[in-house]
Amino acid sequence: MLGSVLPFSEETADRVSEYCEKNSTAIPDTLSEHWKATQSSFSDADKMSSRLQGAWMIFTAQDRKPKRVLEIGCYSGYSAIAWYEGTKETQAEIVTLELSPKMIAAARQAFKTYGVEDRVKLIEGPADQTLKTLEGEFDLIFVDANKDGYAAYVQTILDQKLLSSHGVILCDNVFARGLSVGADCAPWLNDHVRPYWGGCGRALDIFNTSIIKDPRVDVLLMPVFDGITHIKWKGSNSRD
Ligand code: SAM
Repeated sequence: MLGSVLPFSEETADRVSEYCEKNSTAIPDTLSEHWKATQSSFSDADKMSSRLQGAWMIFTAQDRKPKRVLEIGCYSGYSAIAWYEGTKETQAEIVTLELSPKMIAAARQAFKTYGVEDRVKLIEGPADQTLKTLEGEFDLIFVDANKDGYAAYVQTILDQKLLSSHGVILCDNVFARGLSVGADCAPWLNDHVRPYWGGCGRALDIFNTSIIKDPRVDVLLMPVFDGITHIKWKGSNSRD
């Protein structure tokens, strides 16, 4: 029987990514322009989601039609702009949380350049504090900041009922490049970043193995991108 993840080689995985991107609806030119500008301006631009992941964000938002989106971890604003693109029909408010002054400045500039300030609100500061100041409910919540914070962020979201009854939490990078599954799962990973992702892997393994035991929620960990966990209130349906 076929496993859930095909055993692609490193080279084949790159070709598969290109194949998927080529055969998916392209991201808008403005988003593509911003992605390229981030790549050329920041040495840690690998923190930004891929072009295909941007296409996934737009598709997911168009499909789920959230009225309010929350994002934890803004970086240069690429994903916030993708959520904006995907919510043109619902005109959703996009709230994005960011800590780094450098990335706050970059994202604010991008939001101005791409004309998304009417619906994107950036809240500055450490997410463990800013999250607790939020009111109301969100239909789509994207968790993509410090990996050792995921468990506490999701607890706060659930405890404060920031997730709407039919909403979804999407937690990015729960594979930690594969290292949450096992220390030997990413032989291709550069030694320069291995210690960082090793720490993320240990924190995310604790998150992954704990959230599934929370009786309040249904959880689905999907082996796409760097692993995306979907969380919803137990038994809820997105279009009840
Ligand atoms: N969502 C972005 C995208 O898809 O392009 C990428 C986000 S990047 C992986 C993570 C971001 O979270 C960084 O910009 C980092 O500065 C921010 N961050 C890290 N720790 C944080 C914290 N405690 N509170 C808020 N933001 C934080």
